[in-house]
Amino acid sequence: MDTQVKKDIRALTRDQLRTFFKDQGDHAYRGDQVYEWLWQKSAHSFEAMTNLSKATREMLADNFVINHIKVDKMQRSNDGTIKNAIRLHDDLVVESVLIPTSSRTTACVSSQVGCSLDCRFCATAKLKRMRNLNPDEIYDQVVAIDNESRLYFDRPLSNIVFMGMGEPLMNYNNVLKAIDKITSPEGLGMSPKRITVSTSGVPKMIRKLADEEVKFKLAVSLHSAIDSIRTSIMPFNSTFPLADLREALEYWYAKTKSRITYEYVVWEGINDRQEDADALVAFCKFAPSKVNLIEYNPIEDGDDFRQASNAAIDLYVHTLERNGITVTVRRSRGKDIDAACGQLANKS
Ligand code: SF4
Repeated sequence: MDTQVKKDIRALTRDQLRTFFKDQGDHAYRGDQVYEWLWQKSAHSFEAMTNLSKATREMLADNFVINHIKVDKMQRSNDGTIKNAIRLHDDLVVESVLIPTSSRTTACVSSQVGCSLDCRFCATAKLKRMRNLNPDEIYDQVVAIDNESRLYFDRPLSNIVFMGMGEPLMNYNNVLKAIDKITSPEGLGMSPKRITVSTSGVPKMIRKLADEEVKFKLAVSLHSAIDSIRTSIMPFNSTFPLADLREALEYWYAKTKSRITYEYVVWEGINDRQEDADALVAFCKFAPSKVNLIEYNPIEDGDDFRQASNAAIDLYVHTLERNGITVTVRRSRGKDIDAACGQLANKS
């Protein structure tokens, strides 16, 4: 069979693999064995499937390919952060990041090649969206980082955030399929409570997540709770204004009772006034919330954006705390290798 028409075997479900083997006149359980190799053991080749006969391995190689990702380049930051440039089977490249702290290792993974949204402070936005990642390409990023975590930090990966390249809710089905695999005992068996999907706020998709009663956490990159300001830095806000986002989040909270995290960068002269902090409080106080104030990481052509003063950060912290909203100030990680939030742009 010609390589061009071979199917990616990981697009098949367990049942489809069982049926494939039955149709070949073999035992259905052979499908279970292959499935285990593909997901639990992350086999990169059919030759690696050593409990299958040579003839079976050759038959699989005649019919299928395994489109595994390849870590093209790995960069380590002074603070221990690792950035991977991941080459996909069609030669496109995305990035993923391992962020170690004393108590946890977090994987920041990509969901799209480029991004369809146009946040003005984000390096990925300059790449435009080329395509969505498949579930296996998302899963493989997690496996690669889990391996690196074991190798360099002597412990398994503990948390995952969908905060790399792309808007995860614009690749909804594939992201949910990947999370299914990551949390399934047949995959990595991770708790969904350790996974956070971070969205710039697509109201319809947030409602869909709520209806599906997903168990992972939700974070929203808000950056302003005033429509005119948010639209100026995140232009898609004119399509999905704050009132719609807020309604969707109310719906999410009513269904899931799960606390909402807001990611928020404070920029000098953009959103650093008392009224900006007050608007944030008014926006998020309807449900238990946590605000992460994230340090800004400069990008090329990002001259309009400058990290706000410490006084402005203090103003936010006090305003939020006074109103009973949990707040953390996040220092940036991996800045020296362009691995920090908003800096992923395939520059390496
Ligand atoms: S911040 Fe996120 S949603 Fe906005 S352009 Fe960058 S990758 Fe896309």
